[in-house]
Formats: sequence, C-alpha cells, structure tokens
Amino acid sequence: MRYSCLHTHTFFCDGSDDVETYCRRAWEKGFHSLGFSAHGPVTRKTGIRTSWNMEEERLPEYLDAVREARRRWEGKLRIYLGLEADFIPGLTGPADREYRELGLDYLIGSVHFIIPPKGPPLEIDGRWEPIERGIREGFGGDGEALTQAYWDNVAAMIAAGGFDILGHMDLIKKNNQAPGSPPPNRIFNPKGPEYLRRGGEIARAAAKTGIVVEVNTGGINRGSIAEPYPSPAFLKIFRENSVPALIAADAHRAEDLDGHYDTAQKALLAAGYTGTVLFEGKEGEARWIREPLPGKI
Ligand SMILES: [Zn+2]
Ligand SMILES: [Zn+2]
Repeated sequence: MRYSCLHTHTFFCDGSDDVETYCRRAWEKGFHSLGFSAHGPVTRKTGIRTSWNMEEERLPEYLDAVREARRRWEGKLRIYLGLEADFIPGLTGPADREYRELGLDYLIGSVHFIIPPKGPPLEIDGRWEPIERGIREGFGGDGEALTQAYWDNVAAMIAAGGFDILGHMDLIKKNNQAPGSPPPNRIFNPKGPEYLRRGGEIARAAAKTGIVVEVNTGGINRGSIAEPYPSPAFLKIFRENSVPALIAADAHRAEDLDGHYDTAQKALLAAGYTGTVLFEGKEGEARWIREPLPGKI
C-alpha cells in the first residue's frame, strides 16, 4: 500500500525538522507524496498569539521553501504545499479570502480554539491546566458545554467551507483523560448520546461537501492519546456516508511521517473502509485517487 502524509509541521511552526529533512525521509520511506501544512498565521486577524502558529512574516519564506523543495525533488517525490488553517468563529477560518490568494495545493481545516462566553480563548490542543481553568471560569465548570462549543465550531467550519481535509475531527477528546490513564473523563462522557449525536452530525455534514476526513495518528505519535482521530464510532459514520479518508501522521518531526499508520489502517478496516485516498494535486477541485487497504494487517 502506498503511503503519503499531508499533515506535517516543520521549523516554520512548531515542528522540529526542516522541509528538506522531511522530503528525504519521505523519499527513503518510498512515499507516494508528501504535503506540508504549517499552522497558518492567526495573530493579525485575531489578536491571538500562540507558540505554535507560524508568524505572519514567515509565510512568504515558507511558501518559497516548499516550492523550492518541489523543484528539487521533481521526478522523485510529489510534494504539495498546504496549510493547516484555524477556524475561530467570527475571526478567521479556511474560507478566508487570504488563503485562496496564496496558490496552495490544499488546506486542512482544524478547530484548536474555543472562545468561552467569558475569559480568554481556550486552546483545546494544549495543556490541561488552562483548559481546566477555562471550563471553570468560562463555562461555569460544565465540560459538556465546552464540548458543545467544540462541535458548534466544527459544524460552522464545515458550513463555511474553503478547505479540503477535515483535521483531527474529534480533537476535543485529547485532554478528556490524563495521558495513559483510564477514565474518569475530565471534560465529557465519550459514550454519552449527545456526544455521539453531534459527532455523527459532523460526519453527515462532511459527506455533503466533498471534503476528505483524515485518520490522524498525531495524538498517538506524541504520546497524548491511544487512538487516532476520529474515534471508531465516528469513523464508521463517515464510512456509512461515503466520506473518503486519508491517513496522516500530523508529524512534528520527520521520523513520525508514517507513525502508527498500521493502527490507522486497522481502524479504517474495522469501520468498513476498503481503501484510502491519495492526493494528486488541485485543478480547481482537489483530485484524489483511491488506494486499496490491504485486507489484513
Ligand atoms: Zn491541528
Ligand atoms: Zn497539525
């Protein structure tokens, strides 16, 4: 089975390898293709500063670096230029005109931030302590309310469109349990009917748009969670609604480029998928080709 990874982070944001190191590693691994997806800049539009979004000033350098790599590796490895775009309601999202003007091959749409009714934006991908404080101070101690706000954001991002790949669809689960620990759940009940209903709605909404869902092993690669995004229950609904799926490592270092892809394949097979998709560039619309999954792993 041919591998690819369209979800990678380099020195330009919070990754720890450069573009060339990723290219060499992907080539050594015999990848079909490699895509770069730096965290797009957010500060100018939102006033939010993070340690992991690319700074605005570095964007031209990033675009050049990936385009130059594409030229260097021509004939050996397909290289694609993308960004991971944050959706923050009312402030920024993948549908923003600025993204369309960059000549990117693809965009990953991701929700990392929740704006609570009061208090500062919450980074749900970040450390637990600020999230705990945000639930207490911003949501009156109600983790389920934070979870609803998360689903609201993902639903609004899908409705607004402008992106090709739905990033780590149920990222809210990342901090729900202490890493490596069983329940108690810290934010929401993952078996609760409301949680499952909202996730199912997302999968069905995605099916109407032509976007592809990623089976993202980044949480496993970084030791923060034991399973890919999305969870088996959601992946099954994506499958039932014929949403194409790709496997991505959300790599923050080159050695993770195909990290835990076997786990992702098993999850896809268990959900009823018989193939993934590989990206073949964009001509108006993104072009995807089918790659069959091996019958048994
Ligand atoms: Zn992300
Ligand atoms: Zn990412």
